[in-house]
Amino acid sequence: MQINNERLHRYFTEMAKNGATELGGVHRLALTDEDKAGRDLFIEWLKAIGLSVRVDDMGNIYGRYSSGNEDKPPVIIGSHLDSVYQGGKFDGALGVLAGLEVLHTLSENKVQTAFPVEVVSFTNEEGTRFQPAVISSGVLAGEFSLDFAYSRPDQDGITLGAELERIGYKGDSANRPSQVQAYLEMHIEQGPILEETGIDIGVVEGIQGATWLEISLIGQANHAGTTPMNRRQDAMVAASRIILAVREIAAQKVPNTVATVGKLRIEPNIVNAIPGKVVLAVDLRQPDNPKLQEAVGLVKATLAQICEEEKVKYEINQLWLSSTVMFNEKVVGTVEQAAKNLGFSYRRMLSGAGHDAMYMARLGATGMIFVPTIDGKSHCQEESARWEAVVNATNVLLETTLHLAQAQIAIPA
Ligand SMILES: [Zn+2]
Repeated sequence: MQINNERLHRYFTEMAKNGATELGGVHRLALTDEDKAGRDLFIEWLKAIGLSVRVDDMGNIYGRYSSGNEDKPPVIIGSHLDSVYQGGKFDGALGVLAGLEVLHTLSENKVQTAFPVEVVSFTNEEGTRFQPAVISSGVLAGEFSLDFAYSRPDQDGITLGAELERIGYKGDSANRPSQVQAYLEMHIEQGPILEETGIDIGVVEGIQGATWLEISLIGQANHAGTTPMNRRQDAMVAASRIILAVREIAAQKVPNTVATVGKLRIEPNIVNAIPGKVVLAVDLRQPDNPKLQEAVGLVKATLAQICEEEKVKYEINQLWLSSTVMFNEKVVGTVEQAAKNLGFSYRRMLSGAGHDAMYMARLGATGMIFVPTIDGKSHCQEESARWEAVVNATNVLLETTLHLAQAQIAIPA
């Protein structure tokens, strides 16, 4: 049994029309009209193959294939349909549509499974419109309260809860999965490793830890023409030194760390004034939890030293911390075995990016499958993958799902 290549391609290209951009990407931010159109289409497809559809109180959509064992917990496969700002067609949508295609294949072959199989699309995985990211799986896992999630505002102050209601996707909490036999997410790698090594399938063992630090630097705004160089408390100069120091910590001091300063706010941000205040955000990621702490410690120590030298005050605030999550070995092993059975090359790896699988791992035995990504490009309109690689990974998803839905897998404590 194999998935239907043409049908998957049709699902994929039709979905990509929702929020399509001129450069071949998608702009489909969570709970916008484009997202609603994508959701409506997904539900239409689920119903067309006779699956029962549920929407929970976070707007997560589930389509269930069952061959009779309604009381058993489901094997859930899926990802998310929302995109980042002018993002790619593959990130998220591919995992949802591959899940849909797997269920379509099960249904047309009338496959008997011991456990029901569900496809899921999670709401607001990206966190582009409403922060934080992975908020819906976070609510399911008990990391965030429903009230907290509903109250998250977008940049115009419109809340996630209000938008769920507006587009008609505020469903029922009774539709959440009460128990999860297994969760499996297929996703593009979003990095260069598989392509560079010529490997077909990424067997994802877990997700590396990450933290966000917000650093406020308080100097003294002053006239650019009249303030001598030795009398300045320039928050921007301090920020520049910190940005370089953060890169050095990741590149040289704590191996296997990646660090990014991607956000900067400058006050007063005019050409003829010394910057009095700069707020910057540091994203640090590292597979080993103690080493992540070590990197954070080095950032703090370096920050203190630079600020002293630049006569600038500072505040540091840890906005987010997520430790490395390791997936269930039985699921990871099943993915590996499926890749082997189908004759694909594969390697075990950690995910550099966060995914809903991170929180779903608290609810059931979890794993992920990565698809090689062209030039490792993601979160941009050029994001792409070879179609053959997509088909290969979807067949691994099918094979793994068959195993997980038939065999009893212990749910981790
Ligand atoms: Zn994604």
